[in-house]
Amino acid sequence: MPITDVTIVRRCAGCSAEFGTMTVKKDNMRLMTNDLNWCEDCGKETREIRDIAERETTVSAEQASYPGNPAVEDVSAAEFRRRRSAGIRV
Ligand SMILES: [Zn+2]
Repeated sequence: MPITDVTIVRRCAGCSAEFGTMTVKKDNMRLMTNDLNWCEDCGKETREIRDIAERETTVSAEQASYPGNPAVEDVSAAEFRRRRSAGIRV
């Protein structure tokens, strides 16, 4: 079965702060977006930049350890920071 999931890192276009990550199907991957997100560091809504965070094989291995293995996971910035401070690689 081909691996089709990729992890995207969402960043503030203004200060590059990380909003969080999400896992999407490769076919649905959109790196260009006009979505606005509230950035605490900038104190305003900013555009977001998306980057591919992981190699597909790594994503697949990580997802195997997730309970439920959701098809699309959208992690909020707060949750992202919580996980990172807890030492969980996101
Ligand atoms: Zn910002």
